[in-house]
Amino acid sequence: ARQRLQAFAGQEAVTTDGFRVEIAANIGTPEEAAGLIGRGAEAVGLYRTEFLFMSRSAMPDEDEQYEAYKAAAEAMQGRPVVIRTLDVGGDKELPYLSVPHEMNPFLGYRAIRLCLDRQDLFVTQLRAILRASAHGTIKIMFPMISGLAEWRRAKAVYDNVRADLLRDHVPIADRIELGIMVEIPSAALQADRFAKEVDFFSIGTNDLVQYTVAVDRMNEQVAGLYDYFHPAVIRLIKRVIDASVERGIWTGMCGSMAGDPLAAPLLVGLGLHEWSMAPSAMQKIKREVRRMDRAACQELAERILDMDTPEEVRDALERFQHRLP
Ligand code: PEP
Ligand code: MG
Repeated sequence: ARQRLQAFAGQEAVTTDGFRVEIAANIGTPEEAAGLIGRGAEAVGLYRTEFLFMSRSAMPDEDEQYEAYKAAAEAMQGRPVVIRTLDVGGDKELPYLSVPHEMNPFLGYRAIRLCLDRQDLFVTQLRAILRASAHGTIKIMFPMISGLAEWRRAKAVYDNVRADLLRDHVPIADRIELGIMVEIPSAALQADRFAKEVDFFSIGTNDLVQYTVAVDRMNEQVAGLYDYFHPAVIRLIKRVIDASVERGIWTGMCGSMAGDPLAAPLLVGLGLHEWSMAPSAMQKIKREVRRMDRAACQELAERILDMDTPEEVRDALERFQHRLP
């Protein structure tokens, strides 16, 4: 079976009626980018940079970060690499950042909130990413955006960093797409507003689910309630994709839902453009997408949007999958 799946690596993820999606990989280190093209990745849809900052006693400096981002960009040979700015806090602690103890770390001082507060750290990272942009196709996304003001502040820091580098004649790419992760319901609900200002969305279902249904993604006790097939989550996803289509920008998904074959017909039906997942899932998802008819998936998505519970959704998806050729 492994051999048969490998045959899909070089193929496009296109439905029988011609709807093409981009299959991308999630990585945590630049080393993981090596060999991704051969396995069928058309892009890196999520480079989680926090690993570079973890398990060490001091923050990586600008040059060290630059080398890492450049290595990832070069490994992808011109294909897009979406670099996510630092997403620490929540469950990820840094020993050299003294963050006060919090009652609810997942609702606390995390990701973009921390970066906007500690601009020294944010500026250093953005400088490193921009310098690396001269070596490939880099896109940048900000995690845990909850409202427009936060996005605009992050964009302003980016604009300043860019202006500084240009003034100093440091080579950087002419154009870098800037996007936000949609992983907080408030951002999904305002997707129409964001779509006027950002270049793309990337839906982080891992957090979007936890914040939509109020279930800690790490808590086994309530894991039964944690489900990306919850109809409320699906409505949010639809809202985001529709807002992007309306404005002619693209939507990706980098949470684990994107790598689940059972979810694939729903995501095709909703019109998701870029799918980013664990590298091990890419070939299977390509195979699934190639078996599907977009029109049938759209009809399925419409039925699903009218359902009441995750169980009904799952059931419909299982039936659909069984009937696929
Ligand atoms: C997500 O929240 O879905 C996501 C991709 O980010 P992380 O899992 O790193 O929080
Ligand atoms: Mg997240």
